[in-house]
Amino acid sequence: MINAAGTKTRIGGSRIRPEAIDAMERAAESFVVLSELQSAASERISELTGAEAGYVTAGASAGLLLAAAATIAGDDFEAMAQLPVTDGVADEIIMPRTHRTAYDHAFTAAGGTIVDVGTNDVELGTGAATVEPWELHGAISEQTAAIGYVEKSYTQPPLSVVTEIAHEHDVPVIVDAAAEVPPVANFERFIDAGADLVVFSGGKAIRGPQTTGIVAGRSALIESIALQNLDMHIARDIWDAPSIIDSVALEEGVPRHGIGRSAKVGKEELAGLLAALESFVTEDQDAVYETWMARSTYFHQQLGGIEGVETTIDTSGESRAPVVELSLDPAVIDHSATEIAADLRSQDPRLFVGSDRLTEEMIVLNPMCLTDEEVEYVLERLLEAITPKATSNVEPFTE
Ligand SMILES: *Cc1c(COP(=O)(O)O)cnc(C)c1O
Repeated sequence: MINAAGTKTRIGGSRIRPEAIDAMERAAESFVVLSELQSAASERISELTGAEAGYVTAGASAGLLLAAAATIAGDDFEAMAQLPVTDGVADEIIMPRTHRTAYDHAFTAAGGTIVDVGTNDVELGTGAATVEPWELHGAISEQTAAIGYVEKSYTQPPLSVVTEIAHEHDVPVIVDAAAEVPPVANFERFIDAGADLVVFSGGKAIRGPQTTGIVAGRSALIESIALQNLDMHIARDIWDAPSIIDSVALEEGVPRHGIGRSAKVGKEELAGLLAALESFVTEDQDAVYETWMARSTYFHQQLGGIEGVETTIDTSGESRAPVVELSLDPAVIDHSATEIAADLRSQDPRLFVGSDRLTEEMIVLNPMCLTDEEVEYVLERLLEAITPKATSNVEPFTE
């Protein structure tokens, strides 16, 4: 199939980088103490993000689960052992209502109870704020474990406002920034704005293995993540604590497998993610962007002239890639956007176009996951699928 829809997990995310595949192959034939590899990853993530520490997870969603587990259990082995049961433990994760997504299931899976604040009044077009500072202050209590924040171009309020309120009450902030790189500078941006844990996906623009993610943040919380994710079947007398958990007091024993053990990260994924990350941060981002822009400009020029089709290049979107929006005029075009997208999907090879806005009669083309060879093919298929109504050229019948 051909992916003109962008880095969507459900159709395979992105093309993994060759460097990542090499690293995964080598890792597959080797042994490594996973906690030591995680410690090395932590140092690298720390350099890149400016955070105290970092951790490689089985995807951003797994990272959110572990972040919730860390903010709920902290360094309390008993609390770790009982998650997702949170009897006697503060488990509330406060979220501005407009930040709720299907991904927040990861918070509840860890034992979190989501408390949402604010309103959706912004949808009324009133200009009202989605959440006011007093609402966040008011929601924080003894039961609060964290504030959850989802970073998007449109999210309110700014992260720094939320972290300031949270820190006044000694509450950590977890940021879901899964799709927020590139730009590479965003690795630092959320930590700079005071986030305590930030989660990125490894399988989107980083182009690491699909089942990887990154958490960056405070070392005490990363330690808790490590303890709840690592395999803890250790012989303590001959065990050297790796640096990622070396400040944890283990005189009273080691924790059992935590809730994160079900979100295991393999050595192959760890090695693959680290290799992909290196390549991602050193590649020429401007050149990559130019490639995307050239493809989108081509689509824009070739499709924009069709009667009943209006094209725009939108550079403000989630993936930061310049995407082409095709607005179809139902009075002129024979098929609806939904019919066209469905038709393209049923061809061989199947062609997936961006379908988040079909109800607005809009098809979106995302250049990120295409190759140059595929670009022309996508155009050909679209030209065939988007046919102005045959009747529009037919003279009216008169006797
Ligand atoms: C993609 C995405 C995730 C999940 O990322 P995975 O690495 O696939 O687990 C979580 N949150 C947001 C906002 C996303 O866009």
